[in-house]
Amino acid sequence: MKSQLYLLCLSVLLLFLTSCQEKQPVFESLDAYPVYPYSDLGVTYTPEASTFKLWSPAATDVRVNLYDSDDPVAKTTGRLSMEMVNGAWTKLMEGDLDGTYYTFQIKRNGNWGTEATDPYARAVGTNGTRGQVVNLAETNPEGWEADTKPPFTAPTDAVIYELHVRDASIDPRSGIINKGKFLGLSERGTTTPQGDATGVDHLVELGVTHVHLLPSFDFMSVNEARPDDPQYNWGYDPQNYNVPEGSYSTNPSDGKVRIREFKTMVKAMHDAGIRVVMDVVYNHTGLSKDSHFQYLIPDYFYRFNEDGSMSNASACGNEIASDRPMVRKYIRESVEYWMKEYHVDGFRFDLMGIHDIATMNEVSQRLHAIDPSILIYGEGWKAGGSPVPDSSLALKANTPKLINIAAFSDDLRDGLKGSVFVHDEQGFVSGARGKDQSIRFGIVGATQHPQVDYKAVNYSDAPWAKEPGQCINYVSCHDNHTLNDRLAISNPSEGPGRRAGMQRLALAVVLTSQGIPFLHAGSEMLRSKNKDENSYKSGDGINMINWGGKRAYRETFEYVRDLIALRKAHPAFRMGATTLIGKHLVFIDTDDDQFVIYQINDAPGEEWKNIMVVFNGSKDPRTIEFPEGNWKQVVNGRQVNQEGIGKAKQQRIGIPGREAAIFVLEG
Ligand code: CA
Repeated sequence: MKSQLYLLCLSVLLLFLTSCQEKQPVFESLDAYPVYPYSDLGVTYTPEASTFKLWSPAATDVRVNLYDSDDPVAKTTGRLSMEMVNGAWTKLMEGDLDGTYYTFQIKRNGNWGTEATDPYARAVGTNGTRGQVVNLAETNPEGWEADTKPPFTAPTDAVIYELHVRDASIDPRSGIINKGKFLGLSERGTTTPQGDATGVDHLVELGVTHVHLLPSFDFMSVNEARPDDPQYNWGYDPQNYNVPEGSYSTNPSDGKVRIREFKTMVKAMHDAGIRVVMDVVYNHTGLSKDSHFQYLIPDYFYRFNEDGSMSNASACGNEIASDRPMVRKYIRESVEYWMKEYHVDGFRFDLMGIHDIATMNEVSQRLHAIDPSILIYGEGWKAGGSPVPDSSLALKANTPKLINIAAFSDDLRDGLKGSVFVHDEQGFVSGARGKDQSIRFGIVGATQHPQVDYKAVNYSDAPWAKEPGQCINYVSCHDNHTLNDRLAISNPSEGPGRRAGMQRLALAVVLTSQGIPFLHAGSEMLRSKNKDENSYKSGDGINMINWGGKRAYRETFEYVRDLIALRKAHPAFRMGATTLIGKHLVFIDTDDDQFVIYQINDAPGEEWKNIMVVFNGSKDPRTIEFPEGNWKQVVNGRQVNQEGIGKAKQQRIGIPGREAAIFVLEG
């Protein structure tokens, strides 16, 4: 009897173990997961039925939980089992599910995991904790079908303006009604109380071609349920990649509202002649072990160290494994979705150096096949070690291996103002010695040029842009100090007037160089963040665009506006090809590392046959000798005038300290 009972128990146990083994799929590694080839993960909606799909090969069971509210305490109205069909867990629901909220949940090793938002969700409720089924056709603003991108072809024709959605309008003097919202960037005719144009009208007045928005997908750090609390974040903590941020909408609970308002913003920009670039952060997620990806497709979306801990090249707790096929596919489909559904015109990849080269090239080739005018660029660095070797990553030094993708030039940035990590260090515009080759490197857009001594360039001992369209030239951005603050910190003995001169010199270099110029919003009106070096959560008072600055620093605003107009009117400053730069741009040796001079001669399509560009970084005046002829000055340290400033110059002229000057040979 005893032995019979023993045998019975043993067989029950064996049966149990066998059934577990049968249900729990075993893979040699994450890389062995079968790839799902179709583009229908998430929800496919029609008014007659909706199909839910989740790719999660290691799950033994998956269910979709339905809700009629995004209230976290609301009870589910149905838990529905999904079936594995053609590699994806699938559930077809008859009826019109428009507006229904949902979560997914997987079972592994006999246990149901935590409910999580569908990583492919195209709409979510408040704080993104539930997905929402929506009829996207109802999210299109008026005239959306007729929306057209402003004309744009060559990357070097771009003038990019980096702006945070909330910063743009939250100043009480902005004159904008929808302060801090996507809609704030759709309003026209807005002005300060003194009558200076703000918001979209300011961008039009300035003349930029692309506005680059800081993270505008759904991020975690701002509580969307408490819109009136003092809250602020840049948004580099991704939560739902395919959904706009809720705090920038007028109603984060209704998934359609944020979608419609984002589209309304894009439409207004396009109508104003401005293209829209999104800052995308696919290199990490805001949450690590508690992310949607971890709950629903455990471990697959991340890289790990040998000890099993999450690797952390982002310095934000994790890094996305872009090199895995389904992650690569996710990123590609996500940007494609923003491009097609939202008419977005370009993407700036945060910490692009964490992504592998193959992924970036696949993204670029796919997007450019759909529309060759899409602009793609990114930060060619990472913030920590990665298990993937540097040779495979989209780092700045590997830019030649990237196809139609540009990288930021920290070489020019720090050459102009000093290293962002050494706050009191000076740069070319504040009189530092030995920066001339870094300036030349910026002028040629990080390309190969016979007159650049690459060994003497800041951080690069070789050209890293095959073509100038692969180089983003800039001097400041949302990270680190604003240019104005930085110049104040590193030049304490100089007065504000002299520092404004340095700022204009730096922006003159950026806006006349080959490559793609990039401006931090407000740098044209001496934006300050009160010397806050890392203002990612510092609040509106520190971060907002102070629109009063436009009147207070009118001279600098007009200088930048007129430099942009000069660049747009004269193709010599954006020749667009390395061979043309090598042929038509000639540096004049000065034996003075604070004095950079070059000529552009006979540039294709350029009415000015001979242009002389002069940058004096010294605090003292310098003298230049002109070749024969009457030279018209079109730029000095305070103004830009394509018709000419003052009398024609002959033979010798003094260039004041810390000023730019441009002369044109009169025909
Ligand atoms: Ca959010």
